[in-house]
Amino acid sequence: MVDSQCKLLDYDVLLVDMDGVLWRGSEPIAENVSALKRALEQGVTVVLVTNNSTRSRRLYSFLVEKMGLPIPSDRIITSAYSAARLVSRLHGGGAHVLVIGEHGLTEEFVLEGHLVLTHSEWREADYVVAGLDRKLDYQTLSSGVMALRGGAVFVATNLDPTLPMENGVGVGSGGVISLLEKASGHHVDYVAGKPSCVMGDTLEKFVSKGKTLFIGDRVDTDMEQARMLGIDGLLLSESPIPTSEEWFCTSKNLSLLV
Ligand SMILES: [Mg+2]
Repeated sequence: MVDSQCKLLDYDVLLVDMDGVLWRGSEPIAENVSALKRALEQGVTVVLVTNNSTRSRRLYSFLVEKMGLPIPSDRIITSAYSAARLVSRLHGGGAHVLVIGEHGLTEEFVLEGHLVLTHSEWREADYVVAGLDRKLDYQTLSSGVMALRGGAVFVATNLDPTLPMENGVGVGSGGVISLLEKASGHHVDYVAGKPSCVMGDTLEKFVSKGKTLFIGDRVDTDMEQARMLGIDGLLLSESPIPTSEEWFCTSKNLSLLV
């Protein structure tokens, strides 16, 4: 597919990655934000999709509203929300969950009606759900390991090994997961973020609304999720990737595509 065919207004639904599309670090990417604003004004459904589990959908909705994108929290899909929905599908409500992660992850499980355990309650865990925790401590990790050795189901928010930071990279969720796997001998049972079947199930209700495009800046997560969903993909990249794939195109930004 050539870039000129990848017009945003030709789609009913846009699934949009956040980091690298809406902002880079704390800097908004103005041309992409204004293009999405125009798409919203024309009635296109915009759904934001991120592997970042540290913030809640409620907080993301507040942050993008301040940038001029009125997107309610039910159109924001984080790996934390995807993980909480997965546990609801597997268990129903009221699962006992040991969370290793930040506030955004805990909040989505509470909103889904699950019981988030304290770390001293690890014996009661039906599930260990782990993601990025920038204040991770030894006791928390050890509680997770003991719960996994005791037979809890292991859910990862995502497996991204590193986290882009202003001065290089930090340990990503995947690093935390590897540590838990190594110490418990229990391999992760489910991955909730991009790319995964679990995220595919979480996004299906939007994809079923009509012609859908996935916009992102990474081939291994965003474009792979698009391929798994059987929808078109738009990769934002400084250097275009030549492809003969009918479903895939690249562009530097979104400004020429509305
Ligand atoms: Mg990204």
